[in-house]
Amino acid sequence: MEIKDVKFIKTVTKFESKISPLENDDKKAKIFFLGRSNVGKSSMINSLLWKKELAYSGAKAWKTRTINIFWVNKTHECVDFPGYWFAVGGKENQIKLRDMILDYLEWNIYSNLKVVIIIDAFVWPTSQDIEVFDYINEKWVKILIVLNKVDKTSQKELENTKSKIKVNFPQSKYILYSSKNDKYKKSAIEEIFN
Ligand code: GDP
Repeated sequence: MEIKDVKFIKTVTKFESKISPLENDDKKAKIFFLGRSNVGKSSMINSLLWKKELAYSGAKAWKTRTINIFWVNKTHECVDFPGYWFAVGGKENQIKLRDMILDYLEWNIYSNLKVVIIIDAFVWPTSQDIEVFDYINEKWVKILIVLNKVDKTSQKELENTKSKIKVNFPQSKYILYSSKNDKYKKSAIEEIFN
């Protein structure tokens, strides 16, 4: 698929179950992007989607702690979640953010949904990754795992992560990615948007 059009739609700052921004548009395929903070999620989304003329904001503004919704090619509705479970202000805020993410997921699980979970190719699984995986796995939606930052991952670390995925999540597909190297981009777009 060629990315022709990316349009920012909405930022969700708190749980809005009854006025779900997705509710009125069941025709679009839904893609949720999830990952631990600092895993490179913003860099990945920027490198995949935002061309200069499309960018609605710079990378810094994108890197917010909110849920951001955007459309791709008018056929896909993408939801970028805040890095779990990052929060300024300690444990209490972390729990609030975690609840916001899980509540949003709970109210917005669709049959035509794909959840893209981005993990570090060399530090996996964290307990947070496992919590998210288990939660989403129970919902029977498609999961695509992105092993990110492969440019700085040794072959041994990569093999180690791959075998953990095969053991823990044998039914989930995974791809390799690095926003530092364009060679992963085309196949990542195909896997994510098809
Ligand atoms: P986010 O918190 O998940 O949105 O992570 P960012 O996209 O802000 O990236 C966190 C850090 O990882 C930054 O210092 C990036 O420069 C770095 N980073 C992101 N993607 C890659 C990658 O593919 N390879 C390497 N080596 N570093 C990356």
